[in-house]
Amino acid sequence: MIVAVDGPSGAGKSTVCREVARRLQWRLLDTGAIYRCVALRARLANVVDEPAKCAEIAKDIDIRFVASAEGQRVFIGDEDVSEAIRTFETTQCVNRVSAMGEVRAQLLNIQRRLGALGDTIVEGRDIGSVVFPDAELKVFYTATPEARARRRLAEFEKRGESFNFEQVVEQIRLRDETEFHREHSPLVQCDEAVVLDTSAFDFEASCVALQKLIEARKAELSLV
Ligand code: C5P
Repeated sequence: MIVAVDGPSGAGKSTVCREVARRLQWRLLDTGAIYRCVALRARLANVVDEPAKCAEIAKDIDIRFVASAEGQRVFIGDEDVSEAIRTFETTQCVNRVSAMGEVRAQLLNIQRRLGALGDTIVEGRDIGSVVFPDAELKVFYTATPEARARRRLAEFEKRGESFNFEQVVEQIRLRDETEFHREHSPLVQCDEAVVLDTSAFDFEASCVALQKLIEARKAELSLV
């Protein structure tokens, strides 16, 4: 079973999906991490604005997700890039790279291959619309920009990075704008997706809400 969870940046989607996958003993495919890996490589090679070079990076990149005691680690080859892909600098580049059609095309197969390994929660922006249009359950996971800014700020603070609230809200609005309106695979809310607005939810309530949706759908499928 594939559960496609799409939604805008900073809603806590990744953390909640990771925890729900752990509770259900399912696999998790964090497709944002895949785009972040390409953005990191492109940034270090100074080619963030060159689609052909970024696509070449995406074509050859060897990304692996490795389970560890404190969650999933992300590797490019033998290098653990779990932290490097989430710095402010890489976050600022990832939108430009993920807006490139050539890059998205290259990453489609990697995502489908990694998603086909068993019951999987696949989270991203275009999972229900493009990557897994036949997913058994599609969820649109969201929260208001302010609620998302508060969550993102807490994440930055944990890592010792500090930014002010307005700056983060602004960054989120800009990313929304690009993601909803970009030419290739814009963030879309599929008609058949169940909307999960978590603005008023804490972490636990968000996990429970998602888990309930998955379990209900699974029960429904087993009746067919
Ligand atoms: O989810 P996360 O914020 O880590 O994603 C990083 C970036 O990757 C997003 O801002 C988005 O531009 C891009 N992305 C995408 N399509 C996906 C997953 C992520 O374009 N399926």
